Amino acid sequence: MKPARVLVVEDEPAIAELLAVNLKHQGWLPVLAPDGEAAQRAMAEALPDLILLDWMLPGHSGLVWARRWRAEARTASIPILMLTARGDEVDKVAGLDAGADDYITKPFSPQELLARIRAVMRRRAPSAAADSVAVGELSLDGATHRVRWKGETLKLGPTEFKLLSYLMHHPERVHSRASLLDRVWGDQVFIEERTVDVHVKRLRESLGEAGAMIETVRGVGYRFAALG
Ligand code: CA
Repeated sequence: MKPARVLVVEDEPAIAELLAVNLKHQGWLPVLAPDGEAAQRAMAEALPDLILLDWMLPGHSGLVWARRWRAEARTASIPILMLTARGDEVDKVAGLDAGADDYITKPFSPQELLARIRAVMRRRAPSAAADSVAVGELSLDGATHRVRWKGETLKLGPTEFKLLSYLMHHPERVHSRASLLDRVWGDQVFIEERTVDVHVKRLRESLGEAGAMIETVRGVGYRFAALG
């Protein structure tokens, strides 16, 4: 198996080097780029399996590059993990909205970083969609496309099924509409964010009592959580 290629877009040489050492230690292949332009050139040669993207970069910020790479068909499905020195919630949401899969706040430990990378890679693995999952008394069977609540089978449309599967596999975190579009609808970029609300509404209706597990987070998006 060829090693996973990780593109490290980081302008501080000491941090880039530290990341490279840790990635190599895990058996991954780091490719270093000091800014977005260099990353663009590296990706023209070979696409990475994951991008570690610093927020503060010379020239365009990491946010601008994340948005750009998400919008381009060739790079749209590459997982992006943002590195940020900014810890506040607004910035985290901005990062996720720009298309990042996750973010990690500096300073971080190598163990934490590697765990996040593994989690992001796992999430993006195509097999994950076919996995079965259960949260409380709600269960979803990826192979038979069956959803059950307290033993009763529920009827769901294909998009509602995909949406529920994604939410159940990523519970207890807030998903912006843009990130749900990206993860659930994939590269159908011409869909409006409003569409997400329509499908969430339908999904809640199909789930009945279990629909309360999908919380609306005002001004941000949605969160799936077990009923307390
Ligand atoms: Ca930087």
